[in-house]
Formats: sequence, structure tokens, C-alpha cells
Amino acid sequence: MQILDGIKLSKEIKNEIKSLVESYKEQGKRAPHLGAILVGNDGASRTYVDNKIKDCKFVGFESSELILEDTISQEELIAKIQEWNNDANLDGFIVQLPLPKHIDQEAVINAIDPNKDVDGFHPMNFGKMALEMETFLPATPYGIMEMLERYEVPTAGKHTVVIGRSRIVGRPMSILMSKNGNPGNSTVTITHSKTEDLAKYTKEADIVITALGVPEFLKADMVKDGVVIVDVGITRVDDPTSPKGFKLAGDVDFENVKEKASWITPVPGGVGPMTRAMLLKNTLLAYNRNNK
Ligand code: NAD
Repeated sequence: MQILDGIKLSKEIKNEIKSLVESYKEQGKRAPHLGAILVGNDGASRTYVDNKIKDCKFVGFESSELILEDTISQEELIAKIQEWNNDANLDGFIVQLPLPKHIDQEAVINAIDPNKDVDGFHPMNFGKMALEMETFLPATPYGIMEMLERYEVPTAGKHTVVIGRSRIVGRPMSILMSKNGNPGNSTVTITHSKTEDLAKYTKEADIVITALGVPEFLKADMVKDGVVIVDVGITRVDDPTSPKGFKLAGDVDFENVKEKASWITPVPGGVGPMTRAMLLKNTLLAYNRNNK
């Protein structure tokens, strides 16, 4: 069994980006610039945004942060987005999800200029991804593809089972694994909460990608020997022994499943760090498009 080490790999990627940014600066060019909008002060969202800003600093990107009260109206938020759409110094930006309930998430995503949508959530970018055109890929599936490529995990002709069909992980993941390229060329089954006898599919899978958010859902008796496991799930579960009072749990019963797996991602330290690194790659793509 080999670990797909997201911490090690994301460090390599961040160092590659850092060197590129240094070379741009040596040529007298400006640094890439990423923005983040946070509405309200949800603890997990705050941490995600802080980490994105920290990553920008590490690689030498400029970053901007806009923290808005959770009482902000949808119209006011969209007005802020339009200001950033029109800011020529900003290559791309994200609006941290989830948003407060009174705000329509779709309307907000649709308001972002697709050319600045480095999260890859805008329908235009999702469509381009499905059509295998160059675009901003959603960071988590992008990170998984990058991980499979760099670890040279074979995917062509393999049966990949994706658990979960969300717009940010499961569904794009199923599209990317079936694309005509490497990684890709998999035969994909996408499963979800209405799938009957889910284990029937996972037992036949060469690759299982779990993105459901149910701790330790995937058990050893649900997979075959030699399976490749990519665990996207991150759920906070109570842990009185931890100073924070919780620990992060994946969707896979890691200790038992790892005995059967050929490759497996740990949680934490697998997909999560890759997701962070891919936002930087998307910002770099936006920057390079702007500087053509
Ligand atoms: P979501 O809640 O939007 O979607 C969950 C999906 O799982 C749904 O499509 C649902 O049909 C399916 N599902 C739920 N219960 C199921 C069951 N019992 N059997 C089969 N399918 C079931 O979640 P999401 O945003 O896709 O996130 C999934 C998990 O991944 C969460 O734990 C989230 O925290 C984590 N996540 C991690 C990263 C990362 O960078 N590692 C990024 C995004 C999300």
C-alpha cells in the first residue's frame, strides 16, 4: 500500500509556483493577484480563507480579502462582486461558500465574471470542463487529477466509482475521470444517496472516490484487493482528547481499508492540501491569460 501524500505534493506544487512568480518579478512583471470574499464569520470558512491568503503570501501572489457582515443583502454582495469583476489588477477571486440562507448562491456564482472565477463554479466554466476545453477546474477535483497524474496512478480503462454528486466534488470528478486524456479514460459510475446496494458497485471498482461527508462510510468489505482510494470527506467529529475538541474524519475506514488498497489518501493530509494548491494554479492561469 502506498500513501497518496497531499502534503508533500502540494508543497512541491507551491514551490514550483513560487519559482515561477519569482521569475515573473525578475522580468519586471507584476505578481498574480487573488481575492477572497467572506460573508459572515463561520469558523471553518474563516480558516479556509485565512489559509488561501497564507498560500498567496507563500508563493508571492498579491491577495485581497473582503469580509462582509452576514446581514449584507444579495444586491449589495453582487455590487461588490461587480466591483471586483471590473478591477483590472485582480486576476481572479473566490466567494467563500456557504453563504447565509437569505442569499441565493446561484445568483452570486452567476454574477462572477467567468474569466475571474478561479473556483471554477460558474456554469460557463463547468460547461467548458464538461466539453474538455481549457478552463478553471473546481479545485478539489483538479487536485485529485493532479495527484493521480503525479503519482502515475493508472486510470485508463479502469472502473472508477464516485460516491457523491455535488457540483463542487462528485459530479465534476465523474466528468474528469471519464475525459479523453490522462488521468481519465476511466469507465465511471457515479453513486449518491439514492443508489441502491452501493457496495455492489464499490466492490467492483478499481478506483473509489468518496465525497459524501459520512465518517468511515466506506468499509473494507465494500472494496476489492488492490483498489485505489481517494477520500475527499472532511467531517469534524468530537474528540475530547484534542485541544480543539474535534478531529477531522474522512469518509473511509482508513485503518481497515488501507490493508486492501494499492494507493490511499489519508485524512487529513490527502485531498485537502491539494485543493488549496489548485486554487493557486487557477489564479496563475487567469494571470497568464491576462498577460498574453
Ligand atoms: P454535499 O453534501 O454537497 O454532497 C454529498 C453527496 O453525497 C450528495 O450528492 C449525496 O447524494 C451523497 N451522499 C450522502 N449520503 C450518502 C450515502 N449514505 N450514500 C451515498 N451517497 C451519499 O457534499 P460535498 O460538498 O460534495 O462534500 C463532500 C465531503 O467532502 C464533505 O465531507 C466535505 O467536507 C468534503 N470536502 C472536502 C474537500 C477537500 O478539499 N478535501 C473539498 C470539498 C468538500
